[in-house]
Amino acid sequence: MSRERITSGDPLVQLFLELARIPSPSGKERQVVDYIAGRLRDLGLETSEGEPPQAGEGAAGNLYCRIPGNSDGVPVLLSAHTDTVFADPKAVPEPLIRDGMIISGSRAVLGADDKAAVAAIIHGVETVVREGLPHAGIELMLTACEENGLRGAKMATMDGIVARCGFCLDSTGPVGEVIVRSPSQKTIRAVFKGKSAHAGVAPEEGRSAVAAAAKAVAAMQLGRIDAETTANIGIIKGGEAVNVVPDRCRIAGECRSHDREKLERQVASMLDAINLCAASDQVDVETTVIDEFHAFDLTGGNLPVELAVRALNSIGIKPLLASTGGGSDVNEFNRKGLPSVNLSVGMEKVHTPDEYITLESLSRAGRLVLAIVEQASLPGAGTVSTERRP
Ligand SMILES: [Zn+2]
Repeated sequence: MSRERITSGDPLVQLFLELARIPSPSGKERQVVDYIAGRLRDLGLETSEGEPPQAGEGAAGNLYCRIPGNSDGVPVLLSAHTDTVFADPKAVPEPLIRDGMIISGSRAVLGADDKAAVAAIIHGVETVVREGLPHAGIELMLTACEENGLRGAKMATMDGIVARCGFCLDSTGPVGEVIVRSPSQKTIRAVFKGKSAHAGVAPEEGRSAVAAAAKAVAAMQLGRIDAETTANIGIIKGGEAVNVVPDRCRIAGECRSHDREKLERQVASMLDAINLCAASDQVDVETTVIDEFHAFDLTGGNLPVELAVRALNSIGIKPLLASTGGGSDVNEFNRKGLPSVNLSVGMEKVHTPDEYITLESLSRAGRLVLAIVEQASLPGAGTVSTERRP
């Protein structure tokens, strides 16, 4: 692997630019998935695609590809998502390179989240196949609709996956960070239904949905609940006019915890506040709780952690094991029984028009993919050391 300075002409940079020029907001990944599948077929590889998680024109499913191994070791799964957040629907992506950084030249998001990872993975596979490098088997799972509630990963089946561990490349921050712990998250929605009345003429005939919702929010414990748990009400909407007692109000919020029991307790207490305040104001309420993602914790050490640490060390990047408050496809993979970590690829200011990635970070992400594949094919790759990790 070259440690020379990466230039704009580097095939990995060119691949990223190609991908970034193809718009692929969640639910409209068709074009980018076709492009990636074409690159894999050019290598003589077979691909398959799942059902699209979201129906509609331009939709695509998860793209899967297996590269049979040619050496002993640990077969690995590499994953990234093909969709990007939706910023300005009319803006055409125009990635450009300036001062060693790739930025968006239009109002469209750059989409380094997560096309930097897709580029690093596809470029890595192209290198492995074309150069005949030793590897113990690689499977690719490129998911659709990650930004829209991990819908692709939730639909992904792990039947038939032979990989013993997975690497999602979908974390911000410098290359070197290995996410080994993430919380569970639930979303809570409530619709308060009261009775409208003229606020000046007959307020006693009305029952205010806004007042009941406001009392419920005020009664909740929110913010940082403890070291492992957070809660928030992010939306409150209701009422039509200042002179009408409002009959509708909806609130929506979330709760996260690294501890399942604490999560359940917090959700229950928020639901209690909603139901009690609605009842005391004689307002009906409908509540919905949605399981968004499930916690995982590999801080005790595990195969993907070990391989990620060895891979980073082998390319001279200091590994940093980290915990996050966010969720991603990696939560789903762990829930489905494939021990997996999330790796930083160096994308910054994601989900904003200022998103960027440096050429150096992209180069590091590319080297990391090759290093994982290499480490997984070395003798002893399947062992987990009990030494303290860095
Ligand atoms: Zn992402």
